[in-house]
Amino acid sequence: LALYAAKRGGKHGWRQYENELHEEIVRRAAVRASLDRAIAEHDIRLDYQPVVELDGGRVVGFEALVRWPHPEHGLLLPDRFIPLAEETGQIVPLGRWILRQALQEAAGWSARSGDDIWVAVNVSAQQFADRGFADVVATALHAFDIEPALVVLELTESSLLPYEGDKARKILGGLKDLGVRIALDDFGTGFSSLSHLSELPVDILKIDKSFVARITESPDGLALVEGIVRIAEALRISVVAEGIEARDQWAALKGIGCDFGQGFLFGRPMNADSVHELLGSVL
Ligand code: C2E
Ligand code: MG
Ligand code: MG
Ligand code: MG
Repeated sequence: LALYAAKRGGKHGWRQYENELHEEIVRRAAVRASLDRAIAEHDIRLDYQPVVELDGGRVVGFEALVRWPHPEHGLLLPDRFIPLAEETGQIVPLGRWILRQALQEAAGWSARSGDDIWVAVNVSAQQFADRGFADVVATALHAFDIEPALVVLELTESSLLPYEGDKARKILGGLKDLGVRIALDDFGTGFSSLSHLSELPVDILKIDKSFVARITESPDGLALVEGIVRIAEALRISVVAEGIEARDQWAALKGIGCDFGQGFLFGRPMNADSVHELLGSVL
């Protein structure tokens, strides 16, 4: 702190730093209280983005993405409040609500479409670390009577990082015993280690949109994604490419044998009612 104050110019800098710190604490307390209220009063909602089979365009699943329509700040996207909820620990109750809401809303999709439709739910590191997490999942599967294999839990590599290989494998193994599938999200952005892939019981790998953005820009960009697809194939892991916005990206990914894709080209995140209208159609 002293160093920071010194950088800001001695005594005056210190005063300003104190003021800023105070404002920040007040702001956070306010957001925290309103997030508590929003969770309690169900003002938070989930939108769903379609995942399609790249060969043919059939919808195979949806990813649940949390939204907070805020009375003063407008529609808040997850980046505006998930990190904060992680800091305050509110992510644990919020994450439980998200999981239950997603499973409840998804429970009728397969029957309605006449085809298996999966639902993917993002899980924060803290939820994953919570000892009760597997029970939360088990209880929700039971309560909403949804086929466990149709539930995908998305984790990032960084949320697995704090664990020595064996511990992460044990926790994931406990979840896999429930019959759900595990996806590694934003693959390639963190401290990717190929050993994670072979050591952990991962079913799906999601290639981050930053890689997808580069595939039609340079041959190297495409080669990189093709390498990831080949490795996943060898390990019998399915691949979902994220952030597909253009037809040439779709074509390139299909060409290298990538199984599934997600992106604005196929559909933006939509509310649960729109999901119902879309089921059974081909994009
Ligand atoms: P993610 O899991 O990688 O989700 C994909 C993000 O990419 C979503 O942003 C989605 O709207 C966006 N996206 C999809 N297609 C395209 C595209 O074609 N182009 C571009 N530019 N973007 C695309 P969103 O909804 O803002 O979510 C951001 C991140 O917040 C998610 O990244 C995920 O890490 C986190 N998040 C979202 N919902 C939840 C949740 O329920 N729980 C937790 N713990 N985290 C969540
Ligand atoms: Mg995700
Ligand atoms: Mg992602
Ligand atoms: Mg992401």
